[in-house]
Amino acid sequence: MRNTQIPATILKTALSGESNRIVSYLTCENQIATAMLYGGPKSKLRSMVSPFHTGTLYIYTDPVRKTSKITDFDVSAFRPALREDLYKNWAATLCSELVLKTFAGGQEEGNVFTLVNGFLDGLNLVSENESRIGTLRFLWRYLGELGLQPDVTECFSCGTEFDRNEDSESVLYSAEGNGFLCKSCKNTTKAPGSIEISKNALLYLQALQFLSPKEVRAVSIDSKTFGQLQELIFYLINRATSFSLNTLESRSIVW
Ligand SMILES: [Zn+2]
Repeated sequence: MRNTQIPATILKTALSGESNRIVSYLTCENQIATAMLYGGPKSKLRSMVSPFHTGTLYIYTDPVRKTSKITDFDVSAFRPALREDLYKNWAATLCSELVLKTFAGGQEEGNVFTLVNGFLDGLNLVSENESRIGTLRFLWRYLGELGLQPDVTECFSCGTEFDRNEDSESVLYSAEGNGFLCKSCKNTTKAPGSIEISKNALLYLQALQFLSPKEVRAVSIDSKTFGQLQELIFYLINRATSFSLNTLESRSIVW
């Protein structure tokens, strides 16, 4: 098969030589692939093949040299807000770096393509404030794709279920066990990498686990809860890439 076509989202383009580009993209089969894009700055195809665009990608593969080049791209989603808004651009770049560094979760039967496109569509549509909490929801779900989401239902040490009516004010996340510790266990453990989150923050994570995306979007959280969730989720997602997310390091530009 020399000529193929596949639904894909462009994640990154990098200059190669004077005017060519190496394009990294995520396919609908949850695979990361790269292909060459030839053409100068005035090439129409080059403006189509830009990060965060989704559509049908046409690829020619040289059977001898085993190289691929992009011959056409029929874009179905341009998402212009991701280029115009500083925060949204940052969040989309974080998403793309994360997908590249985790090889899209490495599961053909996974949900990464749907998850990524849902996130980018949402970023393009909602307000900047909504997109900040949307980013946390995306990252938390992505941890699920990686199999690294901590259990939000029970204490990982003693197995006690976190009861939504019990009035413990907070739980402690422990990096060592990648789980949460209940009121009595957290007093006996103080390990590096532990992050305390309020009961409200834990309830929000439970909502993410058990409610539909539409129902979760209707749940509002205060700024303190948001701050705790952000600290926890950024830590978890950074650890999933062995603390190599450059985009996360540069977040001061949008905070
Ligand atoms: Zn416990």
